[in-house]
Amino acid sequence: MNKLNNLKDAKKIVVKVGTSTLTYETGKTNIRRMKKLVEVLADLKNSGVQIVLVTSGAIGIGVGKLGLKEKPSDTPGRQAAATVGQCELMFMYDKLFSEYGHITGQLLITRSDIENEERRNNLINSFEKLLEYGAIPIVNENDAVAVEEIVFGDNDNLSAIVAKLIGADGLIILSDIDGLFSGNPRKDDDAVLIPVVDKITEDIEKIAGGRGSSRGTGGMITKVHAAKAAGESGIPTVIMNGANPDDIYRVIEGRQIGTIFVPSGKE
Ligand code: GLU
Repeated sequence: MNKLNNLKDAKKIVVKVGTSTLTYETGKTNIRRMKKLVEVLADLKNSGVQIVLVTSGAIGIGVGKLGLKEKPSDTPGRQAAATVGQCELMFMYDKLFSEYGHITGQLLITRSDIENEERRNNLINSFEKLLEYGAIPIVNENDAVAVEEIVFGDNDNLSAIVAKLIGADGLIILSDIDGLFSGNPRKDDDAVLIPVVDKITEDIEKIAGGRGSSRGTGGMITKVHAAKAAGESGIPTVIMNGANPDDIYRVIEGRQIGTIFVPSGKE
């Protein structure tokens, strides 16, 4: 595995995008954002970077599509919403990537697929073959069946697992905030962006505490935990604002965008 301290010249990356980046407050898809993200990823792919996209949004988009007032509080309700939203999500990705001549493949994963060695190996084979075929694997939790995933799971964690599985050079987590701040920038004017985290200490975890938006599942803490997990396998993570997908180019150029977490693990 090629281990880097940043994502400069990374050749295999995992990009994670969350519900709050992909949808408006109305619960409907943010088409402009999604189009821009797909354009950048398709272009990076053309430049020779292998891309795996981990996407949330199934439940959120399903809620919007079904015309529900809010995310259902019961598990079957969320599962049903996820099945509807997942179709819409993949329809959109497939359509948008197709416009640039790219092929997508959907992988819906549960925790048991990772924990069971045989299933994990099958999954790795599937990823490898898709990448070999030149397709873009698009991953989400299998929310329709993975009850425990809906309750406990988050795609930040899943994106780190996927990055490890495929031996990625880097993980990019798109957020609705510019990166990790020294305080809560929505409440504290003195909060400043932390550009580089060399080590994820208890203090770092403390400032990342708290939950994200009502549409998403995680918050900064789940992103920092993902960065920690990826870092332990030697994979650098950048947490950046998903509102500006063009910045992904800058990350691959090795420029300072968002917060970069330097990996702790060795090759
Ligand atoms: N898998 C969920 C969905 O697609 C979201 C999980 C998360 O937000 O992390 O709706």
